[in-house]
Amino acid sequence: MKKIQTELFANPSENQFDKLCVVVKACQSCTRMANSARILGRSAGPLDAKIMFIGEAPGRRGADGSGIPFHGDRAGHNFETLIAQVGLDRNNIFVTNAVLCNPKDDKGNNAPPNKTEIKNCSDYLRQQIELLDPKIVVTLGGTALNATAFIEPHHLSLRESVRSEHKWFNRLLIPAYHPGQRAMIHRSFPNQLSDYQFILEQLKRLGKKARTVNGSVRADALVVVREITRLKPKLSYFSLHKLFYLVEYKAVQELGHRLTQAFIVRQKDGPYCTDLHLTKLKNSFSNLKIIEPKGDIIFNHQSAGLFDENDNDLDKVAMNIINEVMEEYGEDDDFRLKSRVYTTGPLRWMLKAEKKGLNLFNAPIDFSKKSNSPVN
Ligand code: SF4
Repeated sequence: MKKIQTELFANPSENQFDKLCVVVKACQSCTRMANSARILGRSAGPLDAKIMFIGEAPGRRGADGSGIPFHGDRAGHNFETLIAQVGLDRNNIFVTNAVLCNPKDDKGNNAPPNKTEIKNCSDYLRQQIELLDPKIVVTLGGTALNATAFIEPHHLSLRESVRSEHKWFNRLLIPAYHPGQRAMIHRSFPNQLSDYQFILEQLKRLGKKARTVNGSVRADALVVVREITRLKPKLSYFSLHKLFYLVEYKAVQELGHRLTQAFIVRQKDGPYCTDLHLTKLKNSFSNLKIIEPKGDIIFNHQSAGLFDENDNDLDKVAMNIINEVMEEYGEDDDFRLKSRVYTTGPLRWMLKAEKKGLNLFNAPIDFSKKSNSPVN
């Protein structure tokens, strides 16, 4: 009776997942895995997780013994520390591996899976992704990244695409390094921590309810851009990003929070807001003009935007902040604006952290940081 009830009320994907686990347990596709445990089960995490982490293979001292992916060995400890430090835990992530059994060498030590083994297991990986339908897939290490190419081809390499997001298999793919000790030589723990902060930012963005139109500036950023460019209709693309950052910076200083959820990262020339990509601006402001060769842009607010002027309007306090920033910096050229943004606490902190070896290129700017905040 109990069994019938379970089948009646279980979520269909739970049933399908359990069936997949049974199939995996019986799999004999890879001869050298004959004596290894098949590591796929409910210990991987919730089936409605928005994010899936894919490692290389269960470790001999880790998942092969504990039955829990990335748990029980040094790599597992590092992984659990990394997710904990950015506020994630196993209750909201799903963790699996490119191959579900521990590959061993002749001496019984951990060995990397070969191409055939990765290919053999890639169908199980595809089935896990299809069943769970996570919005974000994070690959941990080169093997996991290569395994995803068996599901839907891509040309990503770990070195060139680490800490960046890519559209893949109807979701976002974010390559990250493996948290094992050997990989830490190539990507230090603090750098990996920044990667996980980036991952968390992407996850948060998915949860935001802000209205966006595909390929357009998000609604909350749109009203800020509209106000900045109402005060200064002609400006360089470069200065728009810097002024937008300075508005957000001032809002945090004076209000304790930002005006938008726009994504701002640190690039070579300072803050860059991905939500203000030129294509998005063009899609959102129909009469936007670009003046070559300098690339200045002119906003024509007679025909501005996809949204009504009254839609999501700024309140008075926000308007004052934008006005103050524009009064102070609106006439500055690109060079002065660049200098100005580098005097703000978050950027000064990033420069300090980079001097200590952190790679923060393309890392999200943390507005809570001050120049004297400690570097972990
Ligand atoms: S690694 Fe995957 S394909 Fe190979 S035996 Fe284990 S479950 Fe089967």
